[in-house]
Amino acid sequence: MRETRTATNCIAGCFVCNGSDAMWTSKNAMALAARHHDATGHETWADQTLTVRYGGHDQQQSD
Ligand SMILES: [Zn+2]
Repeated sequence: MRETRTATNCIAGCFVCNGSDAMWTSKNAMALAARHHDATGHETWADQTLTVRYGGHDQQQSD
């Protein structure tokens, strides 16, 4: 049986306020970037990363 773990991570920011440095790293970062654009008209960005791990050295869940 193969153990598969997936996690998504999203960071977002505003080019006008903070350049390419992330301003939001929570799960709703994408929504915050969208709302910030709606409120200010600024150009905002959001990057979502999908992380997948198959198996692992120890069978126990460490987190
Ligand atoms: Zn802004």
